[in-house]
This record gives sequence, C-alpha cells and structure tokens, in this order.
Amino acid sequence: MPDINRNYTHFIEGDFTSARNCEFIDSIDPTTGNVWATFARGDANVADEAIQSSHRAFGGWAALTGHQRWSAILELADALENRWEELVETEIRDNGKRIAEVRAQFSGLHSWFRYFAEQGKNIGPKAQSNTNPAVESETHYVPYGVVVAITPWNSPLMILAWKLAPALIAGNTVVVKPSEHASASTLEFAKLAYESGIPNGVLNVTTGYGHEIGDALVRHPLTRKVTFTGSDTGGRLVATSAAENIIPSTLELGGKSPQIVFDDADLNSAVNGILSGIFLSNGQTCVAGSRLIVHHRIKDTLIDRIISCANSLQSGNPMCTTTQIGPLANEMQLDKVLTHIEMAKREGAVCRAGGNRIHPEDCPNGYFVEPTVFDNVKPSMRIWQEEIFGPVLAVTSFHEEEDALSLANEGNYGLAAGIWTSDLDRAGHIANRINTGTVYINHYRSVDPAAPVGGMKHSGYGRELGPDAVEDFLQVKSVWTGIKPIPSPYPGLKW
Ligand code: NAD
Repeated sequence: MPDINRNYTHFIEGDFTSARNCEFIDSIDPTTGNVWATFARGDANVADEAIQSSHRAFGGWAALTGHQRWSAILELADALENRWEELVETEIRDNGKRIAEVRAQFSGLHSWFRYFAEQGKNIGPKAQSNTNPAVESETHYVPYGVVVAITPWNSPLMILAWKLAPALIAGNTVVVKPSEHASASTLEFAKLAYESGIPNGVLNVTTGYGHEIGDALVRHPLTRKVTFTGSDTGGRLVATSAAENIIPSTLELGGKSPQIVFDDADLNSAVNGILSGIFLSNGQTCVAGSRLIVHHRIKDTLIDRIISCANSLQSGNPMCTTTQIGPLANEMQLDKVLTHIEMAKREGAVCRAGGNRIHPEDCPNGYFVEPTVFDNVKPSMRIWQEEIFGPVLAVTSFHEEEDALSLANEGNYGLAAGIWTSDLDRAGHIANRINTGTVYINHYRSVDPAAPVGGMKHSGYGRELGPDAVEDFLQVKSVWTGIKPIPSPYPGLKW
C-alpha cells in the first residue's frame, strides 16, 4: 500500500488546532510497518483547553430540549449513514482491522446514535409516591456536565458510539481521548460530526499518551464523569485518578472468556462460534473466546476441525476483501502475542496450530501472527490466566459439568462466556452460575443496543448499552414542593 503522511492535531472547538508548539507521536501502519500518520502529543494544557471548551458548551447543550438534542444527533446519524465509507481506510491504516469487519462495524454506526437518541429524547421528571401528604416530590434527571471518554485501539469508533450517543442525548458534553495507537478515525469522525451540525465544544477530541493527557483529563476539576474502555491496568489507574477527583467512572476492561462445549453440542455451530470468537479481529476483541473447555469425548474431533480451519485461513493485506487474517494492530501487540506464545511453549502447552510470526507476500513487514491453537493447557499456565488479545486459543478438557463450570469461573476476568449444548436446561443452569457480564448459549459475539454489556470481577464495573444506558449519564435529583402551610417547628413560639 502506498504510504500516506497525515499530521493530525487535536480537534477542539469545532476544528483542528494549530500544529505550532506540538510534539507528535508516530502512528505505524501495521500492514506495512511504516509511519502513516502522526498524532499530537497532548499534555495538561491541552486537556485544560479541551475541558474548558466543553464546559463552556455545556450550558447551551444542556439547555436544549431532549427533542432538540435528538434532532441534532439524528443529523449526525444521517451523516454517518451517508459518509461512513470515508472513514474505512483511515481505520484500517490505524489498526489493521480487515476491511470486511470495518465495513460491517461502520455501516451500522448510525444505528447506535439513532437508538440512544430515541431512548433519551423524552426522559423527564418522575413523580415520587412519598409518604408526606404536605409535599409533592419528583425525581429529576440532570446531565453531569463534561464527560471524559477514553477509548482503546481495537474498535475505536464503535466503542466511542456506545459512550457518545447516550452521553450526548443526556445533555452532557464530551472530551474524547482515543488510543495513541489509533486516533485518526476518531479525529475524522469528530470533523464529520461538526459538519453534521454538532455545536462547537460539545465534542472535543484530544490525542496523546494515557499517562499524560489521559490522566490530566480525568483529574481536571471540571470533569464530572469518566467512561473508560481498555485494559485492566489502565482501568485501575483511571479509577484511582477518578476517585481522587471524586467523580464516577465506568470501566469496560479486558477478558479471558471461556467457551464450554458439551458432547451433545451441534459441532458445526460450535466450531463456527469458536472460530469467530477467537480469530475475528485477530482475537483483539474484549470478548475473544480465548479459553476452550471441551468435553473429553468430543475433544479430538472438535480440535481437529478447529486446527484444520486455523491452518487454512489466508493472512494478508486487510484492505483486500478476500483476506481472512490481517495484521495485529501495533508492534507492542505483536511482541505481546509472540511472548505469550513462547511462554506457553515453555510452560508445556502443546502448540497444535500456528505459533509463529509470518510475512505474507503482499505485506512482508506487517505484524502478522499465525492463528494459533494450544492444547493440554493447565489452569496454572499464564496462557490460561492472562489476556493475550491475539489469535491464540487455549484448550483444555473436562469430564463433569461442575469441573467445566469451575474451570470457566477461574481467574480474575468475568466479561463473557459461551455454552454449547443441546440441553437448554443445563445451559440455563450454567448461565446462572457463571461469573460473567454476558453469556452466549449456542451463539457467540452478538452486540445490540438493547443488550447491556460490561464485566464482573476485573473486567470492570458499570454497564454500557441496554435500556438504562442514557440514565448512566444522568444524575438524579429529588425536588420537593410544599402544598400545605408549614406548621411551626416550635409550637407555642410567638413571632
Ligand atoms: P489501554 O488500557 O492500554 O489503553 C486504553 C486507553 O486508555 C488508551 O486511550 C490509553 O491512552 C488510555 N490510558 C492508559 N493509561 C491511562 C491513564 N493512566 N489515564 C488515562 N488514560 C489512560 O488498553 P488498549 O491496549 O488500548 O486496549 C486493549 C484493552 O482494551 C484490552 O484489555 C481489551 O480487553 C480492552 N477492551 C475492553 C472492551 C470492553 O468492552 N470490555 C472493549 C474493547 C477493548
């Protein structure tokens, strides 16, 4: 692919900021290994500029009626529906996601905005049935003010849509800090949002490192809430800074999601669900089904099929529609995945497919790793416990249902789980006892505006999406109105 060179500055107050006095961070195209763009390296001063801008914009945006904000967000949704293709190549350059997957995500971006705009448009006061006949009371819902949204590199725009749509319809203004590895699509999105009519300062985007500008945004005295998606390491730091600033945080963190396959499962569906769980987006998805727990009677049959599919997947240029495995998103991720593969080999897991970096003919310097399957994995191994965020499947087997459940519930994470069986009573029973925020039965990977997502244990707290998504961006206020004369609190007291 020809190298492009774009220099991106922050997007504040409806435009890209001046490049003067900016330091820049190189963004490497993972398909070529070459610099394709640079992002401004923001600091506390830039954080202040962006937050002040969003704080100024807050009064006007919050004062609009829900219907007026709904209408502005629908304009944005229309612009996305008409122009999403403009963003596709930018995202692929930034994180190497395959064109088929980017197209699928981007062609549906508008629908998240429509759904939450609709959900939040009529939120108004609710009467309380209090016990005092002398007063009426109501619950009012008010926006927080400036919300900081911090996003990772794997699906920057979809994850942003989940935060932005409910936050904006609720009347908040938002400062976004995308990943330093993949900020371009978020910046281009902000430009598109302004062109669609979102007012100045209602959405600002600042770029740079998490520990620099990210932390400064969370600690800013005018920031009222933070919504974070990323690693548990990043989440812990963000939650600590948010606690010190006494602001609420929502954390969507990592996972090490189990897929349990019983011997009565429809094996074709299970194989397809397992492949999509671990190899789509190269395993760089929070819900990657990276731990396979399979009944001993069907283990060999199932693994043989998975290995045969893994070995036949075509790696190559993610811009090409026939490519089945693209590059990993950045060099740090490449190193992390290769290190985990080496560790798994040293710890005694048996590598049954893949296990190596590869150099496809059309992009020999890209960050490619073969789809990899490890068998005979023990729960004590790091490959079983740690999130790799790559195309690496760890397999173990079980005899009894209880053993499958305790293997699935092992470890610090609790994001998602898959259960494959034709016995729906059994599946329901396990779904009740599995400690994850999402459970898929004979299915894997769906997301929908109506279904809340989020984690248990170290996978985070709070939920995104679902029927309460907008309320998560609203503060609750009780308003009391006296309807009878007030008796003296000191009977007999003379005026
Ligand atoms: P990361 O934690 O390294 O970075 C995420 C974002 O946080 C980046 O924008 C980064 O700059 C910022 N950041 C890091 N430290 C910060 C700090 N101290 N203060 C403020 N901001 C800070 O994560 P990543 O490598 O970009 O993304 C991969 C991780 O994201 C994986 O663990 C994955 O499971 C998780 N993820 C979770 C979900 C979910 O919905 N649960 C979805 C996608 C990705």
